[in-house]
Amino acid sequence: MKDYLVKATAEGVRIYALCTAGLVQEAKERHHCAHLAAAALGRAMTGALLFAATMKDGERVSLRFAGDGPLGAIVADAEGTSVRGYVENPGVFLPLKNGKLNVGGGVGSGMLSVTRFLANAEPFNGVCELVDGEIASDLTNYLYTSEQTPASVALGVMLDRDGEVMAAGGWFVQAMPGCSEEVLATLENNVLTMPYVTELLQAGMTPEDIVRRIARGLASDIKESLPVAFSCRCSREKVLGMLAALPAEDIAELRQDEITEVHCQFCNEAYRVGQAEIREIVGKKLI
Ligand SMILES: [Zn+2]
Repeated sequence: MKDYLVKATAEGVRIYALCTAGLVQEAKERHHCAHLAAAALGRAMTGALLFAATMKDGERVSLRFAGDGPLGAIVADAEGTSVRGYVENPGVFLPLKNGKLNVGGGVGSGMLSVTRFLANAEPFNGVCELVDGEIASDLTNYLYTSEQTPASVALGVMLDRDGEVMAAGGWFVQAMPGCSEEVLATLENNVLTMPYVTELLQAGMTPEDIVRRIARGLASDIKESLPVAFSCRCSREKVLGMLAALPAEDIAELRQDEITEVHCQFCNEAYRVGQAEIREIVGKKLI
């Protein structure tokens, strides 16, 4: 199944569901993540895509989970249907907890900060404490406490023994103002009885099926289906621009090396900059 996001409504309720196994696998390979980091980063990136889905074209959201656990900070950044991200310590191992990857233990306690880069306004920044470091509950709590948005977020990543991503995805439900009590009661019951998202995906359910499962008993209407992907905004031009912004003495130091290698933190792409290009930067700096 290709990675994609489905946007739907059901009697005054906004429902989004997506499958992300391909992009989680790509992030895992790019950052050489062990199982635990792949699950944590995969959940964070899937959550960032759900947050971005509620925003307008050209807007961007950045999630930063800063916990005291061994994984260190986890950052996920989404714009429209593109997402990128990284985890500070991708190689961490922790024993399983109740037969599952201990993402909460890996993240630890600390803060979640969310920055929404808006099209026609100053960026909006909200911060709240992590609930349990399991990512989905942290995002649900953030929406409620910092943005006064009662919503429910579920996320999941399942890997096999070798660390290949078997299933990944999530869903987001938000009752819009004016939603009837009856609809809310049906929705609450459906949400409370939802199996894990990875179980549904493993059973062959599509995001459309997940939407219908969440909206059981309600008239749902699928509005859009959009492909989602791992994609980074870095480029050779941006790397050269960043080098050019360094202090003159740092650039002079770079001139000692035959090749300067610059890694993008978000996608781990390596940019190799040669002496000639460094000289060009120096030339421009002198003017
Ligand atoms: Zn990059």
